[in-house]
Amino acid sequence: MAQVAISNVAKAFGTVKVLHDVSVDIPDGQFVVLVGPSGCGKSTLLRMVAGLETISAGTIAIGERVVNHLPPAKRDIAMVFQNYALYPHKTVEQNMAFALKLRKTDPAVVTERVKRAADILDLNPYLKRYPRQLSGGQRQRVAMGRAIVRNPQVFLFDEPLSNLDAKLRVQMRTEIKELHQRLKTTTIYVTHDQIEAMTMADKIVVMRDGRIEQIGAPLELFDRPANLFVAGFIGSPS
Ligand code: ADP
Ligand code: MG
Repeated sequence: MAQVAISNVAKAFGTVKVLHDVSVDIPDGQFVVLVGPSGCGKSTLLRMVAGLETISAGTIAIGERVVNHLPPAKRDIAMVFQNYALYPHKTVEQNMAFALKLRKTDPAVVTERVKRAADILDLNPYLKRYPRQLSGGQRQRVAMGRAIVRNPQVFLFDEPLSNLDAKLRVQMRTEIKELHQRLKTTTIYVTHDQIEAMTMADKIVVMRDGRIEQIGAPLELFDRPANLFVAGFIGSPS
C-alpha cells in the first residue's frame, strides 16, 4: 500500500489543455472516487497515475517515489477498465495467472496468488471455464482477480461497472467495497455516476472541465457543497 500525491498536475493534448493545476492527496489505504461529467478529464488523470499518459506539468508520487518518468510496469499499480478484455482462449485461472507469468514470477507464487484471488472473489467453481462461459458479473470478478494477483500498492478503476446492468452494478459496488475493506489497498476509482461515488468513496473529488471543484467526504459534499455545480451534481439522480 502507498499514498498517492498528485501535485499541481496539468495535461495538454497539443494546444488543448484538458487538466489544469490538479492536486489531490490520497492517504495510504483510502478509497478515493473521481467523479464528474463525461469529458472533464477523469480518465486522463487516472491514466497519468498509471503511466499511460505523459504529465505536461506537476508531479505524481506513489509512496515516496515521484513516478512522472516511470513506465507503467514499474509503478506497482493495477488497473481495471470498463472494457475488461479477458483473453478468450484462456481459462479463468490462466487469465489471472498470465500477468504474473509474463513477469517471470515463481510458479509456486503464481499458484498461491491465483488461489488467494479466487478465494476472495468466489471464483473457485469457475477456474477451468472460459470467459464466454461466464456471466457479466463473473467476468468482472475475473478482471478484478487479474488486478489482485499482482498485489499492487494502488488499484485504479476506470468506470468498471458501466457495461453492467443496473442490478449487477449495485451488487458489484458492494463487492468492490468489501474487497477494499479486506485488502485496504489504496484505490482511485473513476465514475460519472454520483450515486456510485456517494456510496463507495471515503473521499470524493468532484471535477469539471479539467479542474477540481471540491474534495471531501460524501457527507461533507452533501451538507456543504462548495458551489451550485457540486450541489447540482451530487444532488441529482444518475
Ligand atoms: P472523462 O474520462 O472525464 O470522460 P477524458 O479524460 O477521457 O474525460 O477526456 C478529457 C478531455 O481530453 C476530453 O475533452 C477528451 O476529448 C480529451 N482527450 C482525451 N484523450 C485525448 C487524446 N488522446 N487526444 C486528444 N484529446 C484527448
Ligand atoms: Mg473516462
